[in-house]
Amino acid sequence: MVIIPDGQPYIQAIHPGWYGHKVAELSMLRLDIVHHDISGNKWYKLKHNIEHCISNNINRVLTFGGAYSNHLAATAAMANLAGLQSVGVVRGLFSEQRLTPTLQFCRDNGMALHYISYEDYSRKGDEDMLQNLGLIFPGTFIIPEGGANDYGRLGAEEIAAYIPDYYTHIAVSVGTGTTLVGIVNRLHIQQSVRGFAPMKGGGYLNDEVCCYIHEEKQANYKIYDNWHFGGFGKYNDALILFMNDFYKQNNIPLDVVYTAKMMSGIKEQVTAGVFDVAARILCIHTGGLQGNTSLAGRLIY
Ligand SMILES: *Cc1c(COP(=O)(O)O)cnc(C)c1O
Repeated sequence: MVIIPDGQPYIQAIHPGWYGHKVAELSMLRLDIVHHDISGNKWYKLKHNIEHCISNNINRVLTFGGAYSNHLAATAAMANLAGLQSVGVVRGLFSEQRLTPTLQFCRDNGMALHYISYEDYSRKGDEDMLQNLGLIFPGTFIIPEGGANDYGRLGAEEIAAYIPDYYTHIAVSVGTGTTLVGIVNRLHIQQSVRGFAPMKGGGYLNDEVCCYIHEEKQANYKIYDNWHFGGFGKYNDALILFMNDFYKQNNIPLDVVYTAKMMSGIKEQVTAGVFDVAARILCIHTGGLQGNTSLAGRLIY
């Protein structure tokens, strides 16, 4: 890959006082530091997609996302660094004069923004919609929303290489489930994965990801949706307090859309005594900090 990472992932211990000493270890795998603009799991999910384009002389990628989408921002940045053109199909008819910070970032990285209505966006995977986009933007490689394709899952498998066998449980945030699938498939058979979905009713993802999980690993994961804080992209004062407190105690910034909700869930489970005292838990920091710009001044980091 022509793009050089900012740093190598590392494991950072969480202060035992934060989880009431209820398990043997709780740590975080810092993927957020991999690249400032292509953060966390997005680096892994996108790299093979971009490499596919480079090795096949495809000079434009197109993908989908909302106005605060980490995936859209990361795709714009990676395409730009790789010397590819990019198109972002955006959910909602935004005015060019009033872009969100995320969309402005995409624009600054050369991404052409193509706005469609919420209704059209709900058909983003349909064959006729993709064909139509192919006509408007010929010679383009289309990456599904969230990088949820074979290249995405392949890249996500590489994350498992940073997870030592002695961890008994892994916690990860779930959007499309692409990252969870890659990790579950590559982990040791005795390690189990807890996914935390940040949207209402996200439990449906259990069935959605199941067909990509290897047969012998089918019982090794479960996705929880109790910690959505009102829905996808929603938050309350308690969550902001939680993020600031976590930062004070552990010096790790969490993002409001995904990782804060996951850590809130894992803390509640740990302190409720869900895990054996010998459990060693590794939480994946999947990045996404660019999304915190919407919190304007409410965070201490
Ligand atoms: C995109 C994103 C996710 C969701 O990843 P999936 O592979 O779609 O499940 C999780 N956490 C963060 C911080 C993200 O930006």
